[in-house]
Amino acid sequence: MTLSIPQEVVRYLREADRVVALTGAGISAESGVPTFRDAQTGLWARYRPEELATPEAFARHPERVWAWYTWRRNLVRQARPNAGHRALARMERLLPSFTLVTQNVDGLHQAAGSQRVIELHGNLMRTVCAAQRHEVSRWEPTPEGQVPRCPRCGSLLRPDVVWFGEPLPAAALQAAVEAARQAQVMLVVGTSGLVHPAASLPLLAAERGAYLVEVNPQETALSGVMDAVLRGPAGTVLPRLVEAVWGAGVLKGW
Ligand code: NAD
Repeated sequence: MTLSIPQEVVRYLREADRVVALTGAGISAESGVPTFRDAQTGLWARYRPEELATPEAFARHPERVWAWYTWRRNLVRQARPNAGHRALARMERLLPSFTLVTQNVDGLHQAAGSQRVIELHGNLMRTVCAAQRHEVSRWEPTPEGQVPRCPRCGSLLRPDVVWFGEPLPAAALQAAVEAARQAQVMLVVGTSGLVHPAASLPLLAAERGAYLVEVNPQETALSGVMDAVLRGPAGTVLPRLVEAVWGAGVLKGW
């Protein structure tokens, strides 16, 4: 891929004290965790995301939703962070203030070494009960096709993720909004910009004068508000960006 990083982007990052990265499913695509669009193939192709990732879907077909998440959990267990995740983890160490806000639920940023991660949509590997949100780490095995129940209250178990139509965790959203307001540069990586309120964060940052950079192989709903667009996969573009700003070799050992 021939991609050079524009000097303007390099300058903004060199001079910035407060940088925020907003990431979406695209950054994990190269780790083998499919985006929702890519996951609509194979076994799960016949369902739309709303049939798998909404409270209504869980109320109607809890066993189907549980099975879909079991499938995704298995994918994530096998996945390893890629060079894009690692480049962002390195940026956290190189910048005076760096906040990573993710819509992903796969934990790969933390696995890459990022310490301060705001998870807007929860975490796939955590399990809670549907009624009381008790966090549960062990449960009685159930026959194939049945959803296990909370050992404390008996309600069905579900992954601790935010489904379409559910509110975001208030503290995480508040922290993300605050970071966006303060950002001098915001990197918007691997997100289609269609899922709100996450997709509003770049707009908020831009209103406050932040310089916006998109990293995505494709045009998105947010491309029009970007100051710079780096077209390519995050696993290639982000390491190049880090090296362009901080020098070749800065990623050695990462
Ligand atoms: P999305 O599926 O709507 O969009 C993915 C974006 O990533 C697209 O714009 C695509 O062009 C881009 N992309 C694909 N490959 C890329 C690459 N190699 N490098 C950079 N960009 C790449 O994802 P979204 O905007 O995050 O919103 C979907 C919702 O689905 C989110 O709420 C998220 O929580 C959830 N989700 C999470 C995961 C995960 O945790 N890994 C996976 C699927 C869906």
